[in-house]
Amino acid sequence: MENKAIVIGASAVGSITAKELSRRGIEVDLLEEDSRVGKFGKCGGIFSKHGMDYTGINYQDLILNEIKGARIIAGKEELNVRTPQTQAVVLSRQAFDERAADEAVSAGANLHLNSRARNFDTNGKITVKTTDNHSYSANVAIGCDGNSSITARKLEFPEIPQSDYVISYQAEFDKANVPTPDIVDLILDHKYYKNFFAWTIPISDKKIRIGIATTEIKKIEDAKKAAFADPYLSSLIKNANKTFEFYHMIPLKYRKTTQKTYGSSHVLLAGDSAGQVKATSGGGVNFGAKCAKVAAEETANYLLHEKPLEYEKNWRKKHGKTLKFHYILHRMYRLMPNWLSEMGIGVSRRIGMQPLLEKYGDMDYVFKI
Ligand SMILES: Cc1cc2nc3c(=O)[nH]c(=O)nc-3n(C[C@H](O)[C@H](O)[C@H](O)COP(=O)(O)OP(=O)(O)OC[C@H]3O[C@@H](n4cnc5c(N)ncnc54)[C@H](O)[C@@H]3O)c2cc1C
Repeated sequence: MENKAIVIGASAVGSITAKELSRRGIEVDLLEEDSRVGKFGKCGGIFSKHGMDYTGINYQDLILNEIKGARIIAGKEELNVRTPQTQAVVLSRQAFDERAADEAVSAGANLHLNSRARNFDTNGKITVKTTDNHSYSANVAIGCDGNSSITARKLEFPEIPQSDYVISYQAEFDKANVPTPDIVDLILDHKYYKNFFAWTIPISDKKIRIGIATTEIKKIEDAKKAAFADPYLSSLIKNANKTFEFYHMIPLKYRKTTQKTYGSSHVLLAGDSAGQVKATSGGGVNFGAKCAKVAAEETANYLLHEKPLEYEKNWRKKHGKTLKFHYILHRMYRLMPNWLSEMGIGVSRRIGMQPLLEKYGDMDYVFKI
């Protein structure tokens, strides 16, 4: 079989997929619709340290801040968790995506910018036609084209229900007043941040990202107003300058199907296009990268050694349970009225849950045990 694959989308997950394929000797066409790779920073940019290490991307020099704990606020109650060691790193997502794409290209991938996949032909090989009038053919195509994946839409992969998306808004501020630059905040309040929460991600004692997300798409502006009127959040940015803001959707559930077979050709989905996101936080880079690695390994084994391509089975076996657990916790949170969240946080503090969370808590795996 020809050693060729097509990867659609050159953001974090697509670039990691392309790098992993290229270093296994597969010829890769990496298609990106934009004139630059990356999401232009449309991300909180906070990642568990072990998750980042697992991506295999050289990210150390891109670290902007190190996070050691979290403050969870619900009504009048709060729970503070702080560890001596770094739990998470904050990066510029744009810089990370650019680094991942550079590493893919250095490994041999052919990156095509301004190349938006628009049509697919699945007779024989998979042929992807792009808006710059090129067409690429291979036995395997991997859609890493994000939450509004054209790969998934055109090839009729099962949809993620609308109720399993949140709409988010995030802004970055400088000249802020950040009293605890190594602690993130999570603010639970279903009244405004329905079924999700508001957050802060400090970058330094003068720089911070503030975000909100809700399942109520039409009420995002109300949620934004509530966040900026919140006495605590507004105190952080009293004399600050907003340097960047954006809105974006986040899928919270993986698709029922992420692999389709057409004769001897396959189309796989990885990352947000597959919905491989932690539903408790909306974080998708680490698990997207983990699934990208499964996709690359399976594809290489198929193309080079003609082994059955079992991406669907294997990413679910390795990471499906964890993502499902995040989703179940998220659904439980949806059922909790504000008073119950407040009571839960208060009781956790009073019975001394902090040391347990400090010892066993993990942002990717919920519990390390
Ligand atoms: C407000 C917010 C905060 C977040 N914070 C975090 C966080 O702190 N940590 C974390 O892990 N995750 C976070 N996430 C989630 C994270 O951003 C996504 O999970 C991640 O971007 C998914 O990566 P991806 O490569 O699958 O998709 P994307 O990053 O969406 O990339 C898709 C790529 O495909 C390209 N593309 C799309 N269509 C086509 C096409 N037809 N042809 C060619 N190219 C195409 C796009 O231009 C883009 O480059 C956050 C999300 C939001 C909205």
